[in-house]
Amino acid sequence: MAKTYDVVVIGGGPAGYVAAIRCAQLGLETACVEQWINFKGDPALGGTCLNVGCIPSKTLLESSEQYHHIKAGIESHGIHVEGVRLDLDQMMARKEDIVLQLTNGIGALFKANGVAWLQGHGKLLVDRQVEVTAQDGSVEVVNADHVIIATGSKPIEIGAAPVDNHEGLIVDSTGALDFREVPKTLGVIGAGVIGLELGSVWNRLGSKVIMLEAVEDFLALADQQIARDALRQFKKQGLDIRLGTRVTATQKTENGVVVSFKDKDSEQEITVDKLLVSVGRRPNIDNVAAPETDLLLDERGCIHIDDKCETNLPGVYAIGDVVRGPMLAHKGSEEGIMVAENIAGQHGHLNYDAIPWVIYTNPEIAWVGKTEQALRTEGVPYKIGTFPFSANGRAKAMEAATGMIKLLAHAETDTLLGCHIIGPFASELIQEAVLAMEFHASSEDLARTIHAHPTLYEAMHEAALSVHGRALHKINT
Ligand code: FAD
Ligand code: NAD
Repeated sequence: MAKTYDVVVIGGGPAGYVAAIRCAQLGLETACVEQWINFKGDPALGGTCLNVGCIPSKTLLESSEQYHHIKAGIESHGIHVEGVRLDLDQMMARKEDIVLQLTNGIGALFKANGVAWLQGHGKLLVDRQVEVTAQDGSVEVVNADHVIIATGSKPIEIGAAPVDNHEGLIVDSTGALDFREVPKTLGVIGAGVIGLELGSVWNRLGSKVIMLEAVEDFLALADQQIARDALRQFKKQGLDIRLGTRVTATQKTENGVVVSFKDKDSEQEITVDKLLVSVGRRPNIDNVAAPETDLLLDERGCIHIDDKCETNLPGVYAIGDVVRGPMLAHKGSEEGIMVAENIAGQHGHLNYDAIPWVIYTNPEIAWVGKTEQALRTEGVPYKIGTFPFSANGRAKAMEAATGMIKLLAHAETDTLLGCHIIGPFASELIQEAVLAMEFHASSEDLARTIHAHPTLYEAMHEAALSVHGRALHKINT
Protein backbone atom coordinates (compact mmCIF):
# COMPACT_ATOMS: atom_id res chain seq x y z
CA MET A 1 0.00 0.00 0.00
CA ALA A 2 1.20 3.50 -0.82
CA LYS A 3 2.65 5.39 2.13
CA THR A 4 0.62 8.40 3.32
CA TYR A 5 2.32 11.56 4.62
CA ASP A 6 0.72 14.57 6.25
CA VAL A 7 2.70 16.75 3.83
CA VAL A 8 4.68 16.09 0.66
CA VAL A 9 6.80 18.97 -0.62
CA ILE A 10 7.89 18.85 -4.27
CA GLY A 11 11.21 20.71 -4.56
CA GLY A 12 13.97 21.15 -1.99
CA GLY A 13 15.15 24.72 -2.66
CA PRO A 14 14.89 27.52 -0.06
CA ALA A 15 11.10 27.56 -0.41
CA GLY A 16 10.58 23.78 -0.28
CA TYR A 17 13.22 22.71 2.24
CA VAL A 18 12.22 25.43 4.70
CA ALA A 19 8.54 24.47 4.32
CA ALA A 20 9.44 20.82 4.97
CA ILE A 21 11.49 21.61 8.09
CA ARG A 22 8.76 23.89 9.49
CA CYS A 23 6.10 21.22 8.83
CA ALA A 24 8.22 18.64 10.67
CA GLN A 25 8.79 21.06 13.57
CA LEU A 26 5.01 21.35 13.86
CA GLY A 27 4.66 17.58 14.20
CA LEU A 28 3.54 16.81 10.64
CA GLU A 29 4.95 13.68 8.98
CA THR A 30 6.72 15.22 6.01
CA ALA A 31 8.54 14.12 2.87
CA CYS A 32 10.39 16.30 0.36
CA VAL A 33 10.84 15.16 -3.25
CA GLU A 34 14.00 16.58 -4.82
CA GLN A 35 15.69 15.65 -8.09
CA TRP A 36 18.82 17.84 -8.17
CA ILE A 37 22.09 16.17 -9.19
CA ASN A 38 25.09 18.33 -8.27
CA PHE A 39 28.41 18.97 -10.02
CA LYS A 40 29.84 15.80 -8.44
CA GLY A 41 26.99 13.70 -9.82
CA ASP A 42 25.39 13.29 -6.38
CA PRO A 43 21.78 14.03 -5.35
CA ALA A 44 21.64 17.37 -3.54
CA LEU A 45 19.20 19.54 -1.63
CA GLY A 46 19.16 23.36 -1.58
CA GLY A 47 17.86 24.07 -5.09
CA THR A 48 19.04 26.89 -7.32
CA CYS A 49 19.92 29.09 -4.35
CA LEU A 50 22.49 26.86 -2.70
CA ASN A 51 23.79 24.99 -5.75
CA VAL A 52 23.96 27.54 -8.58
CA GLY A 53 22.46 30.79 -7.26
CA CYS A 54 22.73 32.93 -4.16
CA ILE A 55 25.54 31.05 -2.45
CA PRO A 56 28.05 30.38 -5.26
CA SER A 57 27.47 33.87 -6.68
CA LYS A 58 28.05 35.57 -3.32
CA THR A 59 31.13 33.39 -2.76
CA LEU A 60 32.65 34.51 -6.06
CA LEU A 61 31.59 38.12 -5.47
CA GLU A 62 33.45 38.04 -2.15
CA SER A 63 36.57 36.36 -3.61
CA SER A 64 36.73 38.67 -6.61
CA GLU A 65 36.20 41.73 -4.40
CA GLN A 66 39.07 40.68 -2.14
CA TYR A 67 41.32 40.17 -5.17
CA HIS A 68 40.37 43.50 -6.69
CA HIS A 69 40.70 45.31 -3.37
CA ILE A 70 44.18 43.93 -2.68
CA LYS A 71 45.23 44.76 -6.25
CA ALA A 72 43.71 48.20 -6.56
CA GLY A 73 42.12 49.45 -3.37
CA ILE A 74 44.61 49.16 -0.55
CA GLU A 75 47.40 51.62 -1.37
CA SER A 76 45.51 54.57 0.11
CA HIS A 77 45.73 52.77 3.48
CA GLY A 78 49.52 52.88 3.17
CA ILE A 79 49.78 49.19 2.34
CA HIS A 80 51.75 48.18 -0.74
CA VAL A 81 51.32 44.64 -1.97
CA GLU A 82 53.36 43.14 -4.79
CA GLY A 83 53.03 39.97 -6.78
CA VAL A 84 49.27 39.52 -6.35
CA ARG A 85 48.32 36.44 -8.37
CA LEU A 86 44.93 34.97 -9.18
CA ASP A 87 44.45 31.24 -8.61
CA LEU A 88 41.08 30.72 -10.27
CA ASP A 89 41.12 26.96 -9.62
CA GLN A 90 41.43 27.58 -5.87
CA MET A 91 38.70 30.27 -6.03
CA MET A 92 36.36 27.79 -7.73
CA ALA A 93 37.36 24.98 -5.34
CA ARG A 94 36.48 27.21 -2.37
CA LYS A 95 33.10 27.99 -3.95
CA GLU A 96 32.41 24.29 -4.49
CA ASP A 97 33.42 23.45 -0.94
CA ILE A 98 31.04 26.06 0.50
CA VAL A 99 28.21 24.79 -1.73
CA LEU A 100 28.81 21.21 -0.58
CA GLN A 101 28.97 22.19 3.10
CA LEU A 102 25.66 24.03 2.89
CA THR A 103 23.77 21.54 0.72
CA ASN A 104 24.95 18.63 2.91
CA GLY A 105 23.83 20.73 5.87
CA ILE A 106 20.24 20.66 4.57
CA GLY A 107 20.47 16.85 4.48
CA ALA A 108 21.57 16.88 8.12
CA LEU A 109 18.69 19.22 9.03
CA PHE A 110 16.23 16.88 7.29
CA LYS A 111 17.57 13.94 9.30
CA ALA A 112 17.47 15.87 12.57
CA ASN A 113 13.88 16.95 11.95
CA GLY A 114 12.71 13.61 10.59
CA VAL A 115 11.93 14.85 7.06
CA ALA A 116 12.07 12.01 4.51
CA TRP A 117 13.96 12.91 1.34
CA LEU A 118 12.41 11.12 -1.64
CA GLN A 119 15.09 11.38 -4.33
CA GLY A 120 13.73 11.85 -7.84
CA HIS A 121 11.22 13.75 -9.93
CA GLY A 122 7.91 14.51 -8.23
CA LYS A 123 4.66 14.84 -10.14
CA LEU A 124 1.29 15.73 -8.68
CA LEU A 125 -1.46 13.26 -9.59
CA VAL A 126 -5.17 13.55 -8.79
CA ASP A 127 -6.33 13.31 -5.17
CA ARG A 128 -3.02 14.58 -3.77
CA GLN A 129 -1.06 11.54 -4.84
CA VAL A 130 2.56 12.24 -5.77
CA GLU A 131 4.46 10.10 -8.23
CA VAL A 132 8.22 9.96 -7.58
CA THR A 133 10.45 8.79 -10.43
CA ALA A 134 13.97 7.98 -9.22
CA GLN A 135 17.07 8.45 -11.36
CA ASP A 136 17.14 4.72 -12.17
CA GLY A 137 13.59 5.02 -13.59
CA SER A 138 11.83 3.24 -10.72
CA VAL A 139 8.48 4.78 -9.78
CA GLU A 140 6.83 5.09 -6.37
CA VAL A 141 3.49 6.74 -5.60
CA VAL A 142 2.86 8.30 -2.18
CA ASN A 143 -0.30 9.86 -0.76
CA ALA A 144 -0.43 13.19 1.00
CA ASP A 145 -3.02 15.09 3.00
CA HIS A 146 -1.31 18.27 1.82
CA VAL A 147 1.06 18.92 -1.09
CA ILE A 148 3.35 21.94 -1.40
CA ILE A 149 4.77 22.61 -4.86
CA ALA A 150 8.10 24.46 -4.70
CA THR A 151 9.67 23.63 -8.04
CA GLY A 152 11.43 26.98 -8.53
CA SER A 153 12.41 28.65 -11.77
CA LYS A 154 14.63 28.30 -14.82
CA PRO A 155 16.53 30.84 -16.95
CA ILE A 156 14.52 32.40 -19.77
CA GLU A 157 16.04 31.54 -23.14
CA ILE A 158 16.10 33.74 -26.22
CA GLY A 159 16.21 32.46 -29.78
CA ALA A 160 19.00 34.85 -30.79
CA ALA A 161 21.44 33.34 -28.25
CA PRO A 162 20.86 29.65 -27.49
CA VAL A 163 22.62 28.62 -24.27
CA ASP A 164 24.94 25.62 -24.08
CA ASN A 165 26.65 25.51 -20.67
CA HIS A 166 28.43 22.31 -21.59
CA GLU A 167 30.19 23.88 -24.56
CA GLY A 168 30.71 27.00 -22.45
CA LEU A 169 30.61 29.75 -25.10
CA ILE A 170 27.04 31.02 -24.64
CA VAL A 171 26.06 30.36 -21.05
CA ASP A 172 23.44 31.13 -18.42
CA SER A 173 24.27 32.01 -14.81
CA THR A 174 25.20 28.39 -14.02
CA GLY A 175 27.84 28.44 -16.76
CA ALA A 176 29.12 31.90 -15.80
CA LEU A 177 29.67 30.72 -12.20
CA ASP A 178 31.99 28.06 -13.50
CA PHE A 179 34.38 29.54 -16.09
CA ARG A 180 37.78 27.88 -15.70
CA GLU A 181 39.66 30.80 -17.28
CA VAL A 182 39.02 34.52 -17.05
CA PRO A 183 37.49 35.46 -20.41
CA LYS A 184 39.28 38.42 -22.01
CA THR A 185 35.90 39.75 -23.10
CA LEU A 186 32.53 38.81 -21.63
CA GLY A 187 29.29 39.84 -23.31
CA VAL A 188 26.20 39.93 -21.10
CA ILE A 189 22.66 40.07 -22.46
CA GLY A 190 20.48 41.72 -19.79
CA ALA A 191 21.79 44.24 -17.25
CA GLY A 192 19.58 42.96 -14.42
CA VAL A 193 20.54 41.44 -11.09
CA ILE A 194 22.42 38.41 -12.45
CA GLY A 195 24.12 40.37 -15.22
CA LEU A 196 25.38 42.99 -12.78
CA GLU A 197 26.52 40.54 -10.11
CA LEU A 198 28.29 38.11 -12.43
CA GLY A 199 29.47 40.93 -14.71
CA SER A 200 31.09 42.46 -11.60
CA VAL A 201 32.79 39.17 -10.67
CA TRP A 202 34.49 38.80 -14.05
CA ASN A 203 35.19 42.52 -14.43
CA ARG A 204 37.10 42.43 -11.11
CA LEU A 205 39.02 39.36 -12.24
CA GLY A 206 40.11 41.13 -15.42
CA SER A 207 37.49 40.61 -18.15
CA LYS A 208 36.30 43.44 -20.36
CA VAL A 209 32.54 43.25 -19.76
CA ILE A 210 30.02 44.58 -22.28
CA MET A 211 26.38 44.51 -21.20
CA LEU A 212 23.55 44.74 -23.71
CA GLU A 213 20.28 45.75 -22.06
CA ALA A 214 17.02 45.93 -23.98
CA VAL A 215 15.26 48.70 -22.04
CA GLU A 216 16.34 52.33 -21.69
CA ASP A 217 15.74 52.51 -17.93
CA PHE A 218 18.57 51.03 -15.90
CA LEU A 219 17.34 48.80 -13.01
CA ALA A 220 13.72 49.73 -13.64
CA LEU A 221 12.52 48.15 -10.37
CA ALA A 222 14.87 50.22 -8.21
CA ASP A 223 14.38 53.81 -7.10
CA GLN A 224 15.55 55.74 -10.15
CA GLN A 225 17.70 58.21 -8.18
CA ILE A 226 19.65 55.24 -6.79
CA ALA A 227 19.70 53.53 -10.21
CA ARG A 228 21.24 56.62 -11.84
CA ASP A 229 23.97 56.72 -9.21
CA ALA A 230 24.57 52.98 -9.66
CA LEU A 231 24.89 53.31 -13.44
CA ARG A 232 27.44 56.10 -13.03
CA GLN A 233 29.51 54.11 -10.55
CA PHE A 234 29.39 50.85 -12.54
CA LYS A 235 30.50 52.67 -15.70
CA LYS A 236 33.39 54.18 -13.70
CA GLN A 237 34.42 50.64 -12.76
CA GLY A 238 34.67 49.77 -16.44
CA LEU A 239 31.38 47.94 -16.99
CA ASP A 240 30.36 48.92 -20.53
CA ILE A 241 26.58 49.08 -20.09
CA ARG A 242 24.64 49.81 -23.28
CA LEU A 243 20.98 50.53 -22.67
CA GLY A 244 18.26 50.26 -25.31
CA THR A 245 20.00 47.53 -27.32
CA ARG A 246 18.41 44.44 -28.86
CA VAL A 247 20.46 41.38 -29.70
CA THR A 248 19.36 40.10 -33.09
CA ALA A 249 21.74 37.17 -33.67
CA THR A 250 24.80 35.36 -32.39
CA GLN A 251 27.34 33.27 -34.23
CA LYS A 252 29.97 30.99 -32.72
CA THR A 253 33.36 31.30 -34.44
CA GLU A 254 36.95 30.26 -33.72
CA ASN A 255 37.51 33.66 -32.10
CA GLY A 256 34.52 33.50 -29.79
CA VAL A 257 30.93 34.63 -30.22
CA VAL A 258 29.91 37.32 -32.67
CA VAL A 259 26.94 39.20 -31.24
CA SER A 260 24.81 41.34 -33.56
CA PHE A 261 22.61 43.96 -31.96
CA LYS A 262 20.62 47.06 -32.72
CA ASP A 263 20.30 50.27 -30.77
CA LYS A 264 18.11 53.20 -31.73
CA ASP A 265 20.76 54.65 -34.05
CA SER A 266 22.50 51.70 -35.66
CA GLU A 267 23.16 48.02 -36.11
CA GLN A 268 26.43 46.79 -34.60
CA GLU A 269 28.52 43.69 -33.99
CA ILE A 270 30.92 42.76 -31.23
CA THR A 271 33.04 39.63 -30.74
CA VAL A 272 33.36 38.28 -27.20
CA ASP A 273 35.12 35.23 -25.72
CA LYS A 274 32.05 34.25 -23.70
CA LEU A 275 28.44 35.38 -23.67
CA LEU A 276 26.18 35.30 -20.61
CA VAL A 277 22.43 35.32 -21.23
CA SER A 278 20.68 36.73 -18.14
CA VAL A 279 17.32 38.05 -19.29
CA GLY A 280 15.20 36.80 -16.38
CA ARG A 281 13.85 33.50 -15.08
CA ARG A 282 10.55 31.69 -15.65
CA PRO A 283 8.52 29.52 -13.26
CA ASN A 284 9.40 25.82 -13.52
CA ILE A 285 6.18 23.95 -14.17
CA ASP A 286 7.72 21.31 -16.45
CA ASN A 287 5.97 17.98 -15.81
CA VAL A 288 5.08 19.07 -12.27
CA ALA A 289 1.39 18.11 -12.39
CA ALA A 290 -0.50 15.55 -14.47
CA PRO A 291 -2.90 17.30 -16.92
CA GLU A 292 -5.93 15.62 -15.32
CA THR A 293 -5.26 17.45 -12.03
CA ASP A 294 -6.36 20.70 -13.76
CA LEU A 295 -3.83 22.72 -11.77
CA LEU A 296 -4.49 26.33 -12.73
CA LEU A 297 -1.77 28.69 -14.00
CA ASP A 298 -1.97 32.49 -14.00
CA GLU A 299 -1.49 34.77 -17.01
CA ARG A 300 2.31 34.80 -16.52
CA GLY A 301 2.63 31.02 -16.43
CA CYS A 302 3.08 30.83 -12.64
CA ILE A 303 0.99 28.41 -10.58
CA HIS A 304 -2.14 30.34 -9.61
CA ILE A 305 -2.53 30.80 -5.84
CA ASP A 306 -4.59 32.80 -3.36
CA ASP A 307 -3.09 35.07 -0.69
CA LYS A 308 -2.31 32.04 1.50
CA CYS A 309 -0.51 30.28 -1.38
CA GLU A 310 -3.27 27.68 -1.89
CA THR A 311 -3.83 26.61 -5.51
CA ASN A 312 -7.20 25.93 -7.14
CA LEU A 313 -6.86 22.34 -5.80
CA PRO A 314 -7.84 22.10 -2.10
CA GLY A 315 -4.89 21.04 0.06
CA VAL A 316 -2.36 21.79 -2.70
CA TYR A 317 -0.15 24.83 -2.18
CA ALA A 318 2.60 26.48 -4.23
CA ILE A 319 5.42 28.72 -3.02
CA GLY A 320 8.67 30.38 -4.10
CA ASP A 321 9.79 31.19 -7.63
CA VAL A 322 7.03 29.06 -9.18
CA VAL A 323 4.41 31.58 -8.01
CA ARG A 324 3.87 35.35 -8.41
CA GLY A 325 6.05 37.88 -6.63
CA PRO A 326 9.77 38.53 -6.59
CA MET A 327 12.05 35.57 -7.30
CA LEU A 328 14.00 35.81 -4.05
CA ALA A 329 15.10 33.02 -1.73
CA HIS A 330 13.85 34.70 1.46
CA LYS A 331 10.43 35.38 -0.08
CA GLY A 332 10.06 31.67 -0.92
CA SER A 333 11.24 30.57 2.52
CA GLU A 334 8.76 32.84 4.30
CA GLU A 335 5.95 31.54 2.09
CA GLY A 336 7.02 28.02 3.11
CA ILE A 337 6.78 28.91 6.79
CA MET A 338 3.39 30.57 6.29
CA VAL A 339 1.94 27.54 4.48
CA ALA A 340 3.37 25.06 7.01
CA GLU A 341 1.86 27.01 9.91
CA ASN A 342 -1.52 27.28 8.20
CA ILE A 343 -1.55 23.53 7.48
CA ALA A 344 -0.87 22.97 11.20
CA GLY A 345 -3.89 25.12 12.07
CA GLN A 346 -1.93 28.23 12.98
CA HIS A 347 -2.29 31.70 11.46
CA GLY A 348 0.70 32.04 9.14
CA HIS A 349 1.11 35.43 7.50
CA LEU A 350 3.59 37.19 5.24
CA ASN A 351 3.99 40.93 4.76
CA TYR A 352 4.65 41.27 1.03
CA ASP A 353 5.18 45.03 1.48
CA ALA A 354 8.35 44.49 3.49
CA ILE A 355 10.44 42.15 1.33
CA PRO A 356 14.02 43.38 1.01
CA TRP A 357 15.89 43.35 -2.31
CA VAL A 358 19.68 43.31 -2.46
CA ILE A 359 22.08 43.51 -5.38
CA TYR A 360 25.53 42.42 -4.21
CA THR A 361 27.62 44.66 -6.45
CA ASN A 362 30.12 47.20 -5.16
CA PRO A 363 28.61 49.47 -4.04
CA GLU A 364 25.78 47.23 -2.90
CA ILE A 365 22.21 48.27 -3.68
CA ALA A 366 19.33 47.40 -1.36
CA TRP A 367 15.78 48.50 -0.94
CA VAL A 368 12.46 47.78 0.71
CA GLY A 369 9.01 49.22 0.15
CA LYS A 370 7.96 51.83 -2.37
CA THR A 371 10.21 53.71 -4.76
CA GLU A 372 9.80 57.45 -5.20
CA GLN A 373 8.51 56.97 -8.74
CA ALA A 374 5.85 54.51 -7.49
CA LEU A 375 4.65 56.95 -4.82
CA ARG A 376 4.41 59.71 -7.42
CA THR A 377 2.40 57.46 -9.76
CA GLU A 378 0.10 56.38 -6.93
CA GLY A 379 -0.37 59.99 -5.80
CA VAL A 380 0.77 59.24 -2.24
CA PRO A 381 2.09 62.39 -0.49
CA TYR A 382 5.65 61.74 0.76
CA LYS A 383 8.69 63.32 2.32
CA ILE A 384 12.29 62.37 1.52
CA GLY A 385 15.27 62.12 3.84
CA THR A 386 18.70 61.40 2.41
CA PHE A 387 22.19 61.06 3.79
CA PRO A 388 25.42 60.54 1.83
CA PHE A 389 28.04 58.05 3.03
CA SER A 390 30.64 60.72 2.19
CA ALA A 391 29.66 62.37 5.49
CA ASN A 392 29.81 59.15 7.53
CA GLY A 393 32.97 58.57 9.57
CA ARG A 394 32.89 54.77 9.47
CA ALA A 395 32.44 54.74 5.69
CA LYS A 396 35.42 57.10 5.37
CA ALA A 397 37.54 54.83 7.59
CA MET A 398 36.54 51.90 5.38
CA GLU A 399 37.48 53.86 2.22
CA ALA A 400 33.91 53.18 1.08
CA ALA A 401 32.33 56.60 1.38
CA THR A 402 30.20 56.51 -1.77
CA GLY A 403 26.46 56.36 -2.18
CA MET A 404 23.59 57.30 0.07
CA ILE A 405 20.59 56.23 2.11
CA LYS A 406 17.21 57.55 1.02
CA LEU A 407 14.12 57.22 3.20
CA LEU A 408 10.57 57.88 2.07
CA ALA A 409 7.93 58.65 4.67
CA HIS A 410 4.24 59.53 4.35
CA ALA A 411 3.89 63.31 4.33
CA GLU A 412 0.97 63.29 6.78
CA THR A 413 1.46 60.24 9.03
CA ASP A 414 5.29 60.05 8.78
CA THR A 415 4.98 56.23 8.41
CA LEU A 416 8.00 54.79 6.59
CA LEU A 417 7.08 53.83 3.04
CA GLY A 418 10.43 52.88 1.58
CA CYS A 419 14.18 52.79 2.06
CA HIS A 420 16.74 52.79 -0.74
CA ILE A 421 20.45 52.35 -0.21
CA ILE A 422 23.48 52.39 -2.44
CA GLY A 423 26.71 52.02 -0.54
CA PRO A 424 28.80 49.85 1.79
CA PHE A 425 26.99 46.94 3.41
CA ALA A 426 23.63 48.07 2.02
CA SER A 427 22.67 44.37 2.28
CA GLU A 428 22.99 44.53 6.06
CA LEU A 429 21.80 48.11 6.63
CA ILE A 430 18.50 47.52 4.84
CA GLN A 431 17.41 45.17 7.60
CA GLU A 432 16.93 48.09 10.00
CA ALA A 433 14.43 49.62 7.58
CA VAL A 434 12.71 46.25 7.03
CA LEU A 435 12.26 45.83 10.76
CA ALA A 436 11.05 49.42 11.13
CA MET A 437 8.50 48.93 8.35
CA GLU A 438 7.38 45.60 9.81
CA PHE A 439 6.56 47.50 13.02
CA HIS A 440 4.90 50.36 11.04
CA ALA A 441 7.50 52.77 12.40
CA SER A 442 7.67 56.43 11.45
CA SER A 443 10.82 58.26 10.38
CA GLU A 444 10.60 59.94 13.81
CA ASP A 445 10.90 56.51 15.46
CA LEU A 446 14.18 55.89 13.60
CA ALA A 447 15.36 59.43 14.32
CA ARG A 448 14.81 58.88 18.05
CA THR A 449 16.59 55.50 18.11
CA ILE A 450 20.17 55.59 19.43
CA HIS A 451 22.69 54.42 16.82
CA ALA A 452 26.22 53.49 17.90
CA HIS A 453 29.10 55.71 16.81
CA PRO A 454 30.96 55.33 14.54
CA THR A 455 28.85 52.98 12.43
CA LEU A 456 27.35 52.91 8.96
CA TYR A 457 23.98 52.79 10.71
CA GLU A 458 24.46 56.43 11.66
CA ALA A 459 23.71 57.20 8.02
CA MET A 460 20.27 55.61 8.55
CA HIS A 461 19.78 57.77 11.64
CA GLU A 462 20.79 60.89 9.74
CA ALA A 463 18.53 60.02 6.78
CA ALA A 464 15.64 59.73 9.26
CA LEU A 465 16.53 63.10 10.81
CA SER A 466 16.76 64.52 7.31
CA VAL A 467 13.09 63.64 6.58
CA HIS A 468 12.24 66.61 8.81
CA GLY A 469 15.20 68.74 7.77
CA ARG A 470 17.23 68.21 10.92
CA ALA A 471 20.16 66.02 9.85
CA LEU A 472 23.11 66.97 12.02
CA HIS A 473 26.04 66.16 9.75
CA LYS A 474 24.89 67.57 6.45
CA ILE A 475 23.77 70.97 5.31
CA ASN A 476 19.97 70.70 5.20
CA THR A 477 18.30 72.06 2.10
P1 FAD B 1 14.67 26.69 -6.42
O1 FAD B 1 15.77 27.16 -5.57
O2 FAD B 1 14.82 26.82 -7.89
O3 FAD B 1 14.44 25.18 -6.02
C1 FAD B 1 13.52 24.37 -6.69
C2 FAD B 1 13.95 22.95 -6.50
O4 FAD B 1 12.94 22.10 -6.97
C3 FAD B 1 15.21 22.57 -7.27
O5 FAD B 1 16.12 21.99 -6.38
C4 FAD B 1 14.74 21.56 -8.31
O6 FAD B 1 15.69 20.54 -8.55
C5 FAD B 1 13.53 21.01 -7.62
N1 FAD B 1 12.52 20.49 -8.54
C6 FAD B 1 11.94 21.13 -9.58
N2 FAD B 1 10.98 20.37 -10.14
C7 FAD B 1 10.98 19.21 -9.43
C8 FAD B 1 10.21 18.04 -9.51
N3 FAD B 1 9.23 17.92 -10.39
N4 FAD B 1 10.48 17.03 -8.65
C9 FAD B 1 11.47 17.15 -7.72
N5 FAD B 1 12.20 18.26 -7.59
C10 FAD B 1 11.97 19.27 -8.43
N6 FAD B 1 17.88 35.21 -4.41
C11 FAD B 1 18.13 35.90 -3.28
O7 FAD B 1 17.23 36.10 -2.46
N7 FAD B 1 19.39 36.39 -3.01
C12 FAD B 1 20.41 36.20 -3.87
O8 FAD B 1 21.53 36.65 -3.60
C13 FAD B 1 20.17 35.47 -5.06
N8 FAD B 1 21.17 35.25 -5.94
C14 FAD B 1 20.92 34.50 -7.06
C15 FAD B 1 21.97 34.29 -7.95
C16 FAD B 1 21.75 33.53 -9.10
C17 FAD B 1 22.89 33.29 -10.06
C18 FAD B 1 20.46 32.98 -9.34
C19 FAD B 1 20.20 32.14 -10.56
C20 FAD B 1 19.41 33.20 -8.47
C21 FAD B 1 19.63 33.97 -7.32
N9 FAD B 1 18.61 34.25 -6.42
C22 FAD B 1 18.86 34.98 -5.30
C23 FAD B 1 17.25 33.74 -6.63
C24 FAD B 1 17.04 32.48 -5.77
O9 FAD B 1 17.99 31.52 -6.12
C25 FAD B 1 15.64 31.94 -5.99
O10 FAD B 1 14.70 32.96 -5.73
C26 FAD B 1 15.39 30.79 -5.06
O11 FAD B 1 16.30 29.75 -5.27
C27 FAD B 1 13.96 30.26 -5.27
O12 FAD B 1 13.74 29.21 -4.38
P2 FAD B 1 12.72 28.03 -4.75
O13 FAD B 1 12.84 27.06 -3.63
O14 FAD B 1 11.41 28.60 -5.09
O15 FAD B 1 13.28 27.39 -6.08
P1 NAD C 1 16.30 40.41 -14.13
O1 NAD C 1 14.85 40.49 -14.35
O2 NAD C 1 16.87 40.96 -12.89
O3 NAD C 1 17.07 41.15 -15.32
C1 NAD C 1 16.88 40.79 -16.65
C2 NAD C 1 17.27 41.97 -17.50
O4 NAD C 1 17.30 41.54 -18.83
C3 NAD C 1 16.25 43.11 -17.42
O5 NAD C 1 16.93 44.32 -17.20
C4 NAD C 1 15.56 43.08 -18.77
O6 NAD C 1 15.16 44.35 -19.22
C5 NAD C 1 16.68 42.52 -19.64
N1 NAD C 1 16.22 41.84 -20.84
C6 NAD C 1 15.14 41.03 -21.00
N2 NAD C 1 15.10 40.54 -22.26
C7 NAD C 1 16.19 41.04 -22.90
C8 NAD C 1 16.73 40.88 -24.20
N3 NAD C 1 16.13 40.10 -25.12
N4 NAD C 1 17.88 41.54 -24.52
C9 NAD C 1 18.49 42.33 -23.59
N5 NAD C 1 18.02 42.51 -22.34
C10 NAD C 1 16.90 41.86 -22.00
O7 NAD C 1 16.68 38.87 -14.34
P2 NAD C 1 18.04 38.11 -14.07
O8 NAD C 1 19.17 39.04 -13.91
O9 NAD C 1 18.10 37.05 -15.11
O10 NAD C 1 17.76 37.43 -12.68
C11 NAD C 1 16.59 36.60 -12.52
C12 NAD C 1 16.06 36.72 -11.15
O11 NAD C 1 16.88 36.02 -10.23
C13 NAD C 1 16.03 38.14 -10.62
O12 NAD C 1 14.88 38.82 -11.03
C14 NAD C 1 16.01 37.92 -9.15
O13 NAD C 1 14.69 37.69 -8.75
C15 NAD C 1 16.82 36.66 -8.98
N6 NAD C 1 18.19 37.01 -8.52
C16 NAD C 1 18.30 37.68 -7.35
C17 NAD C 1 19.56 38.05 -6.91
C18 NAD C 1 19.69 38.80 -5.62
O14 NAD C 1 18.72 38.82 -4.88
N7 NAD C 1 20.82 39.41 -5.34
C19 NAD C 1 20.69 37.74 -7.66
C20 NAD C 1 20.52 37.08 -8.86
C21 NAD C 1 19.25 36.70 -9.28
